[in-house]
Order: sequence, then structure tokens, then C-alpha cells
Amino acid sequence: MPQERYVIIGNSAAGLNAAEAIREIDGEGEITLISAEDTLAYSRVATPYFISGEIGDRTLFFKDAQFYRDLNITPLLGKRVTAVEPAQNRVVLNDGTGIPYTKLLIGTGSTHQIPPIQGVDRVEFFPHWTLEEARRIKEKAAAVREVVVLGGGFISMLTINAMHKCNREIRFTVVELMDQVMPRLLDRQAAQMLEEQMRQQGIEVRTGAEAVELAELPGGRKRVTLKDGSLLEADMIVMATGVRPNIDFLQGSGIAVQRGVLVDQQMRTSVENIFAAGDCAECADFLHRERTVVHAIWPTAVEQGKVAGANMAGKRLEYPGSLSMNVLDAFGMTFTSIGLFQEEAGVEMLSFTDPERRIYRKLALKDGRRIVGLIAAGGAEEVRYMGAVQS
Ligand SMILES: Cc1cc2nc3c(=O)[nH]c(=O)nc-3n(C[C@H](O)[C@H](O)[C@H](O)COP(=O)(O)OP(=O)(O)OC[C@H]3O[C@@H](n4cnc5c(N)ncnc54)[C@H](O)[C@@H]3O)c2cc1C
Repeated sequence: MPQERYVIIGNSAAGLNAAEAIREIDGEGEITLISAEDTLAYSRVATPYFISGEIGDRTLFFKDAQFYRDLNITPLLGKRVTAVEPAQNRVVLNDGTGIPYTKLLIGTGSTHQIPPIQGVDRVEFFPHWTLEEARRIKEKAAAVREVVVLGGGFISMLTINAMHKCNREIRFTVVELMDQVMPRLLDRQAAQMLEEQMRQQGIEVRTGAEAVELAELPGGRKRVTLKDGSLLEADMIVMATGVRPNIDFLQGSGIAVQRGVLVDQQMRTSVENIFAAGDCAECADFLHRERTVVHAIWPTAVEQGKVAGANMAGKRLEYPGSLSMNVLDAFGMTFTSIGLFQEEAGVEMLSFTDPERRIYRKLALKDGRRIVGLIAAGGAEEVRYMGAVQS
């Protein structure tokens, strides 16, 4: 059999797990791994702890140069893929180089979603997705007093919590469009507990609020105008208004995309020899098989990467579907969310609240017997309920 030429785009959870899975099966094929970022592989999940000062930057890196040598992988770091050409079986890099493949994995993750707020192109702001951005935030956080955070989702909470730990002097104002923080992971009651906890720590939380204009003021200050006319001034704007799959470079490739790259259970795209995994892939939802979803979480990227890699090397593994899950450990409380938590037909919600101990648990039961979702808010020990849904 002719030797395979595997090309993997992405040097993170999905890409690396795919590379390892390929090598377990195929010791001979060439593997080229391309990454737009020029660093060795690091954990995005750990960057908040780097900002807070709880870990140093060296702890973030989980693969060293030896890893690529041991697995006989050619890393092309600091190279961006600008096009995929399925008819020619090649990808094109930003310097014009064409890299041929017999099997391709797209593992390009997510990128920020920057809302079209007036003035956004003229104001300095700080997103938090890459290590470089985490470094920028860490440096700036040491010297600011007032920060406006646009967006009240998971990344926003992690970033505020980390900045709060490294500089207790900062006064934060969070501006969230929806009527609660973390709407994708928490129900109203859990979100209210989180908001209360934040307010107790001096963080102003404005829900149901929309930023309509950003402006630079003299002396490096920024101004955020809200739709209701109120004006917020700050030394720094953190932009945490969500992420979206990093797939713009696939335009014109013919690979089917919706929100992300559409894949089947084998993580195969609409093109036979091209696979996708991780935050950029859109696959069947574990709980609603008829729906496709993008769950931008690390364990999903790992599992999908493993399945994609094995299948690229000739196996026929199936990914059972993606499940939303996450844990927020911030502001002195722990919030666990997995699976369903909103009302829907056939799903019964059982909840338990202990206001004194600041505990809230909600269980979603399907057909009266199968646990399909959970929210648990309280101390760190509440995380233990996560296993009930996973099993
Ligand atoms: C601050 C933060 C905290 C998080 N916390 C959690 C958590 O607690 N739990 C959890 O489950 N998840 C968490 N996540 C999400 C998690 O990090 C992602 O789900 C995971 O990193 C996805 O892995 P991936 O391999 O799909 O993509 P990514 O990790 O985004 O990696 C994408 C790779 O593709 C490369 N790339 C992108 N575009 C191109 C291109 N055009 N050409 C070449 N290379 C390209 C990038 O350089 C990178 O190497 C967090 C994320 C952040 C930012």
C-alpha cells in the first residue's frame, strides 16, 4: 500500500490526539502538523491560572519538541492555512506553499466573535482565547483599576476571576446582553447565585444590557455607551462576547459547513478523505440525535480527535455524540453544568435548594428514569454529581 501523507491543521486537543491515534495504527505514514500559533502545544484551559499567577507559563505547555520527534511528526508552527483544495488534495499556507495530503484533519478550534459595535475598530480591547492574549491581559491587569467586560459567559467569568486574583484593586463591570450570566450553561436560579456572589465581591453585573458604542478617551481611558444611554468609563475593555468555529479559510473549498464543519459519526466531512474534530466540528448531539451541535470544550476535542485519527488510519470508530458540560470554579463557588437544564417535553426537572448552605442542585430526568442533565452550584464537592450524568 502506498504510504499515507497525513496533514493535521491544529496543534491542540483535537490535532494532537488525532496524531497520536494515527501513530498507534500507522507507524510509517508521514504526519505534518500545521499550527498558526508559533508555540509548542499548551492548555488553553489553564491560561486563566497563568493570568492569576497560580501557575507559571512553563506549566501551560503539555508537549515538548521531543514529542514530535518521538512520533515522527513534522511540525510547521507559525504557519496559517489559508485554503484547502480538495480537488488537488492540498492545503495552501499563508506564504503560498502548497502541502499535499492523502488524509486531512481540520482541527482549527475557535476564534472570537467580535460584535459589530460602533467604534470597535478604533478601540483597544482584550479578548482571551490564545496564550498571547492571556499574556497581554496579565500584563495589563497589573496596572488597571477599572475594567469593563463585554459578555457574561464562561470565558468572561474565568477571565474576571483570574484578573481579580492577580489585582484585587480592579473594579469590574460586566455587560451581558441576556437577562442572566452564563446563559448557555446555567439556568436562571444558578445564574442568580453566581451574580450575587460576584456582587458580594464588588463586581458590578449588568444583565439585559447592550454596548452600542466604544470610544477612546484622553489618557488611554475607554468609554462604553450602553443602549439605555448609560456611560461606563474604564482603563481596559475585555471582550468576551463568545467564540465561533475557526473555519473562514474553508470558504470556496466545497467542504460542507454550517456553524462548524459538518461531520458524520466517524468525524468525516462531506469530502471522503477530510476529517474534522474539536471546536471547529459540528456533529450529532448526544441527547438529540437529530440535531447537530458545536460544543467547544476540551474533552470533546480530545475524544473527537482520537476517533478522527484512528479512522484516518483505516479504522472505523464512531463518536457517540457531543454533550455540553463544564465546571466554573470562581468567586468562591463551583458551578457544574452537564447536558440538559432547560424545560422540554418528556423531561422532568427535580431540584433541591439550601439557601443557608448556598447549595442548588437540579436534575433533568427523561422518561422518569434516565438522567440527562444536571446543574449543581455550591462548594467544590458539588462537582461529584457530574459523574451521575456521564455514566
Ligand atoms: C480561557 C479558556 C478556558 C477554557 N476552559 C475550559 C474548561 O474549563 N473546560 C473545557 O472543556 N474547555 C475549556 N476551554 C475550551 C477548550 O480550550 C477548547 O474546547 C479546546 O482548546 C478545543 O481544542 P481544539 O483542538 O479543537 O482547538 P484549539 O485549542 O482552539 O486549537 C486550534 C489549533 O488550530 C490552529 N489553527 C487555527 N486556525 C488555523 C489555520 N488557519 N491554520 C493553521 N492552524 C490554525 C491554532 O493555532 C491551534 O493550534 C477553555 C478555553 C479558553 C480560551
